Amino acid sequence: MLRVDVAEKRKSRGILLRHDNDRIRILAAVERKGALFEVRRTIIITLSLAILLAPPLLGWVRLDLWGGAHRLLGEQVDALTATKGFVVAMALLWGLTFASNVVVGRFFCGWGCPVGYVSRLGEHVTLAKSRIAKAWHHLAGAGFAATFVAAVMLWWVDPSVLVDGDLKAKGIVVGVFVVLWIGARLHASRWRFGFCLGACPIGLYYRLVTSKAPIGIAFSEVPDPCIACHACEKVCPVDLDPKRLGEEVESAPDTVDGPPLRYGDAECIRCGDCVEACRMVFLPRPRAVPPLRFGFERTHFDV
Ligand code: SF4
Ligand code: SF4
Repeated sequence: MLRVDVAEKRKSRGILLRHDNDRIRILAAVERKGALFEVRRTIIITLSLAILLAPPLLGWVRLDLWGGAHRLLGEQVDALTATKGFVVAMALLWGLTFASNVVVGRFFCGWGCPVGYVSRLGEHVTLAKSRIAKAWHHLAGAGFAATFVAAVMLWWVDPSVLVDGDLKAKGIVVGVFVVLWIGARLHASRWRFGFCLGACPIGLYYRLVTSKAPIGIAFSEVPDPCIACHACEKVCPVDLDPKRLGEEVESAPDTVDGPPLRYGDAECIRCGDCVEACRMVFLPRPRAVPPLRFGFERTHFDV
């Protein structure tokens, strides 16, 4: 069963070291041939980060834990009002991800989650061949991690504390920032998608609520058959066999949401890496249609 497979793989690989050499080799090959989704991925993660950053940065909402400079819709407010605004903002962000989950499953995990992107930037360092390229990817990863940590902290701390605050206040804010940033950098170098697989609380929530979504990964051997190269399985960051996505599983003993699951419904983060790998395998045959695609058609769901 899927969940048993995933648990076994997690155990055998160790949760803190998720450097998957097969995955890295295939990603490198995809990159050499020209990755299809790189630009789209960058646009989506930039949007996602902007959505996280804008409310506190523009003063729409902030619950200032340090100085009490709470903000709501540009005004200074008391803690209770700011808390209400904070709850509404969180509900709106949750609603956004919930709506996307209904239509396209865990697409947010694969494309919009900053923690997932931190993992991907960490992989870029491993993929890079030259020292200069490695240094560049380290820099990009460090910059992204810093922006992400700052975006999270801005919800809780008025940045003016760094100018007007006393030494203790400045020290605490900078200290928290540095600790979180180091955590993000360690995540990029050590944990990566092992976190999505085994520890992400949002991923756990999605596992409970995700059911059939109309958009996902389709596997179809019409018009051209799969050549059983297994590149799609090896590149999957959450250890799925993409060819089986949507296939009905016989039972799912550890589920709490009742109805029988279909393979990968809850685990597939719709990252599209398997689609890119399959496309790369088929590049020498430009007239052939790769059996893995990203779109509305989910062959196994049509049963
Ligand atoms: S099955 Fe494909 S889209 Fe889903 S997580 Fe694995 S590689 Fe990503
Ligand atoms: S990458 Fe494509 S051709 Fe290779 S095993 Fe997967 S579906 Fe088949």
